[in-house]
Parts: sequence; C-alpha cells; structure tokens
Amino acid sequence: MLRQMLIRLSQEPRLRDMTVHNGMMRSMARRFVAGETLPEAIDVVRQLNRRGMTATLDHLGENVSTEAEAAAAADDYCRMLEAIADAGVDSNVSLKLTHMGLDLGEDVAYGNTLRIVQAASPNFVRIDMESSEYVDRTLRIFHRLFQDHTNVGVVIQSALYRSEADVEGLIEVGARVRLVKGAYLEPPSIAYQDKADVDAAYVRLMGALLLRGNFPAIATHDPRMIDATREYSLGHGIDPSRYEFQMLYGIRRDLQARLVGQGYKMRIYVPYGTEWYPYLMRRMAERPANLMFVVGNIARESMPGRR
Ligand SMILES: Cc1cc2nc3c(=O)[nH]c(=O)nc-3n(C[C@H](O)[C@H](O)[C@H](O)COP(=O)(O)OP(=O)(O)OC[C@H]3O[C@@H](n4cnc5c(N)ncnc54)[C@H](O)[C@@H]3O)c2cc1C
Repeated sequence: MLRQMLIRLSQEPRLRDMTVHNGMMRSMARRFVAGETLPEAIDVVRQLNRRGMTATLDHLGENVSTEAEAAAAADDYCRMLEAIADAGVDSNVSLKLTHMGLDLGEDVAYGNTLRIVQAASPNFVRIDMESSEYVDRTLRIFHRLFQDHTNVGVVIQSALYRSEADVEGLIEVGARVRLVKGAYLEPPSIAYQDKADVDAAYVRLMGALLLRGNFPAIATHDPRMIDATREYSLGHGIDPSRYEFQMLYGIRRDLQARLVGQGYKMRIYVPYGTEWYPYLMRRMAERPANLMFVVGNIARESMPGRR
C-alpha cells in the first residue's frame, strides 16, 4: 500500500515543487544522490574507485517535454563523458530515454542517445528501463543502436512476465544486460505482484544471463539474490570476472564493501543533479523505513528541545 502510494507520488508535480525546496528532503536526497553538480559526482566516483569499485554516472532527469530540453540533456551527457576521461576515473554512464526525449518521439530519443553512444566510445552507455509503457520502445531503440555500436547495454526487470522472452532476444544478439527487480508500479496483467514471484523470476533470469549472456550486471541489494548468484556461478564454473554486481549509491555500503573484499566486481550507480525528486521517491518506496526516518526528523525539527 505504502509502496504504491509513494510510487504514485513520485509522478506528482505539485509535491515535487514543494519537496525540492524542503531542507529535510534535500538532506535526505543527499543520502542517495552524489550532489547537484558534475564535479561533486566525479569526486564521489574517485572515492569509490579508491575503495575498489567502479561506477555508472546518471545525470538525473526524466520525461522532458521539449526537443531543446532533450538535446540539452544529451549535451550534458557528452560533457559528463569528457569529465570522466579528463579525471581518469573508472566510470561509464546510465541514462533514461524519456530524458532523451522519448515522449516526443522515438527518433528524438534515438538521435540524442546515438550522439552519446558515439561520444562515449569505447566507454559504455547503459540505457535504464522505465515503466512498462516504455519497454517496447526502449528495446527497439536499444536494438537499433546495438546494430552498429556494441558499447551500449540495456536493463531488464524481473517483475515483468515478458522479461524471459526479452532476455532470450538480448542473449541471442550478445547484448550486455543489467538485471533488476523493477522500480515501478505495474498491474497484475503484466507483472508479478508478490515479492516471492519477482525474486523467483530474478533467479531464473540471473541463471540464463550468467550461463549464456555477455558480462551481465546483477543489480540488487538483496542478500538472497546475491547468494543465489554466487552459488550459481560456483556450481556452473563461471568465474566472477565474467559478471559484475551493481548497487545504488548510498544503499547497503556494508555489503558493497564486503563483496569487493571477497574479490567480486562491484559497480555503483551514482546519480547527481537537481532533478532528484522521482528518484528519491522510488528509493523510499523500496524501503518505507527511509520515509519513517524523514518523518521522524521532521517531527524532531518541529519540536525543538525534544530529542
Ligand atoms: C544499479 C541499479 C540500477 C537500477 N536500475 C534500474 C532500472 O533501470 N529500472 C528499474 O526499474 N529499476 C532499477 N533499479 C531498481 C531496482 O529495480 C529495485 O527497485 C531496487 O534495486 C530494489 O530492489 P532490490 O533488488 O535491492 O531488492 P529488495 O527486495 O527491494 O531489497 C532487498 C534489500 O535491499 C535493501 N534495500 C533495497 N532498496 C533499498 C532502499 N531504497 N533503501 C535502503 N535499503 C534498500 C534493504 O535492505 C532490502 O531489504 C536499479 C537498481 C540498481 C541496484
């Protein structure tokens, strides 16, 4: 219930406008967002690299409404790629097609993303997966790009029934896939509703990708999914150098460090920028305890003297 409400609120513009100016929400966002500027984000990547982790940088933004905004977002990504190269840090980039203008047309998003993929080469560009209404278009654009550019990859959500077939199509062409559970609210007609079913699908897809995929990214903070991955790779003689774990900035840092200490590859998704509202709300939806933390802080702030 709370998860559903928070995901719905993530798409509420009036709440966004109130939230981005709220001091408490801004400091909450800092837990999950590397900063508002590119130099701050590069600094975070540098620190992660020192701790044995690679990164994928995301300039926050989604659902732009003009072609000029979409082109500016692509320019920002090109600058980000230059900054990564200049700083000599180990990071690729992740982007959302609605940030590149997908709501304005497939060709708009394709053209902007192509520009980034070309600027990135040989560095790698990951196309995040958004809600189900975008999945067909995202996969079409991905396959179109992948025909001529192998430095691009995509994301599959285990919550969707269709993902088993999508993964097979991606394995067939040798695409690099990031596997996630899925951060959006989807109806029972197209998506598993029970966590146990989402997890079981995750384990099935993980097995297929580990066995037959191209350097899959197992993106999860769930220790059970991580253990299942380790057991599967051990049982099938798959060396840990053939895949990587991925986690979000600010979540389960203890587990991130432990896996690195055990010799696993770990890439951290590092978002930055001022458009953090929908991203933050999705993180709250994943763990309502995060919301309780904010509410508790607001209550303490509004009752000075009570600690
Ligand atoms: C690198 C990366 C990239 C992603 N890209 C996409 C994408 O492109 N499209 C998409 O739909 N989704 C994406 N996601 C989000 C993903 O779909 C899940 O919503 C998210 O990872 C939570 O699921 P989980 O696998 O961690 O397992 P869960 O079962 O949700 O959580 C397992 C445990 O992880 C910890 N945890 C999980 N989330 C949080 C949180 N927000 N705050 C604190 N602790 C938490 C808790 O300890 C929890 O018990 C991405 C996730 C990662 C890690």
